[in-house]
Amino acid sequence: MAQPVLELKSVSRAYEQGHKQLVILDQCDFALPAGEMVALVAPSGAGKSTLLHVAGLLERPDAGDVILNGTACGRLSDDQRTAIRRNDIGFVYQFHHLLPEFSALENVMMPQLVRGLAKAEAADRAMQLLDYMKVGKRAEHRPSELSGGEQQRVAIARAVANAPLLLLADEPTGNLDPTTSSYVFEALEALVRKSGLAALIATHNHQLARRMDRVVTLDDGRIVPA
Ligand code: ADP
Repeated sequence: MAQPVLELKSVSRAYEQGHKQLVILDQCDFALPAGEMVALVAPSGAGKSTLLHVAGLLERPDAGDVILNGTACGRLSDDQRTAIRRNDIGFVYQFHHLLPEFSALENVMMPQLVRGLAKAEAADRAMQLLDYMKVGKRAEHRPSELSGGEQQRVAIARAVANAPLLLLADEPTGNLDPTTSSYVFEALEALVRKSGLAALIATHNHQLARRMDRVVTLDDGRIVPA
């Protein structure tokens, strides 16, 4: 098998709650190759966000390691982890987190500018992505002038602005009505398929989950087939 984009090797993570230890991930193993879209379906509180934070290098595991495109991330400095996060990982959340005072286009340009791309290049790529997500006509609008589905499509365009290898999404359509969810998911799916991204998508929506390549859940701190 080709080298996975994301690999979790015996990853453990627990939180202290009072005097008790709440074990969320327990020697959890997982591999996600390029081009695969995996749904993570588990009840609220099961640890989906924790898993995505650890996989996305936002949190360090207590034990085990996260391997991104062959790089073991445990021994890297915080700065090195931030660089990987910025260049190789895209995040989409339930709420769009777009910057309210900037247009859709500027929001998608921003991560590219932070990375050091020239303004014209960043604008070109941002426009392409917005067109691809079918919100090109709304490029000059601020987030407050967009519908919930449009906001999420802009947020997805922003997440992939730096052409990451891995897309992590935490309930990306959790805030949308079923029809809009389906429409946003279709655009997300087309983007993942076209770019060959590896995607791990937490969702409560079983219908959307079934459209992905594989559905997994969290059971006793392990990732297992759903
Ligand atoms: P999910 O995303 O599946 O709803 P989470 O990963 O957010 O689950 O949380 C899993 C469990 O860990 C929950 O019981 C939550 O209260 C607990 N938890 C999450 N983050 C922390 C934290 N920083 N400190 C203590 N407990 C936490």
